Amino acid sequence: MKPPAFDYAVPCTVPEAVELLAAADGAAQVLAGGQSLVLDLRLHRARPTLLVDINRIPGLDRLDPDGRTLRVGALVRHRTFESERAVPGPLGALLAGAAAHIAHPPIRTRGTMAGSFAWAHPASEWCAVGAALDADLELSGPRGTRTVGARDYFRGPHLTARRPDELLTAVTFPLLGDDTGVGFIEHRRTHFCFAQVAVAAALTVRDGVVADARIGLANCADRPLRARAAERSLLGTAARELDTEARELGSAARERADGHPFARAGRIAAEQDAAPVPEPYADVEYRRHAIAVLVARTLHRAARDLDRRLRISPDGDRA
Ligand SMILES: Cc1cc2nc3c(=O)[nH]c(=O)nc-3n(C[C@H](O)[C@H](O)[C@H](O)COP(=O)(O)OP(=O)(O)OC[C@H]3O[C@@H](n4cnc5c(N)ncnc54)[C@H](O)[C@@H]3O)c2cc1C
Repeated sequence: MKPPAFDYAVPCTVPEAVELLAAADGAAQVLAGGQSLVLDLRLHRARPTLLVDINRIPGLDRLDPDGRTLRVGALVRHRTFESERAVPGPLGALLAGAAAHIAHPPIRTRGTMAGSFAWAHPASEWCAVGAALDADLELSGPRGTRTVGARDYFRGPHLTARRPDELLTAVTFPLLGDDTGVGFIEHRRTHFCFAQVAVAAALTVRDGVVADARIGLANCADRPLRARAAERSLLGTAARELDTEARELGSAARERADGHPFARAGRIAAEQDAAPVPEPYADVEYRRHAIAVLVARTLHRAARDLDRRLRISPDGDRA
């Protein structure tokens, strides 16, 4: 199908883009990578009267690590993160783990991370990472710039705290220290489908106990979410209880049956944190089962990643 007719504007600055959005009174859409929007236009799911193409605004393609945080500009493409060396420390590994699951190379070349946060699909890999780390979303509008944490940003499928006259100018993540291990695991029906369940995890151990645990879930509710009850169940757990030797594959039955802290966290995530909606190929019972198993496996992966990091000295040699 052909898209409905629309006007097209190419602003050169953020204020110009915001002015165009404000003047359109909710009838404009931002064009970033176009990988979701163009399909929505062709299927008539989106009927903007104006497209505001932000691709010529200088500076929006910048990736700025400042020692404490990573600021990702609105035009940074998915594929930037395919190599874990693009971003320092464990955050680079977590982002690379998620990027590998997003669609396929041509879409990763054009699509933007900020576009995923703006589109806010419940199965979005970036949104699961953002929920886990409580990323900050920077929104520029006619009344100035404000920052909204991921915990307040997602409101439902494709619904966010962003107002129609606001441009999402950047997403900011906390950088993670080497006392943190990370993991990202996704289950999808076929390579071309969105995730049935995806889990992002970051596990921090200090003084021999779990000091922080972050678990982000994709497609486990009507919006990306953080599994806070599961995270709480892990805090204070002695590191020696985290069996990093546990095999990831083929261990689903044991993970469910035993009292391992990760198996317990998986069950809590599935029963207390998630609110799965039935899908044609996965009813709620199946989805809860998948969430419990994948959360446990992702935590095992994060624990093994941490184990590996602790054994590698800062100059890359084995300690
Ligand atoms: C075949 C296919 C498979 C895909 N598979 C996956 C997948 O597995 N996982 C996944 O996460 N995604 C997937 N996607 C979506 C893809 O990742 C998109 O790139 C992403 O969702 C949107 O990024 P974009 O830059 O292309 O945004 P666009 O398509 O340009 O915009 C999407 C929406 O966000 C708004 N928007 C974009 N940027 C901004 C901004 N800076 N400020 C305000 N509003 C903005 C637009 O107005 C529009 O409403 C898939 C897409 C296709 C076509």
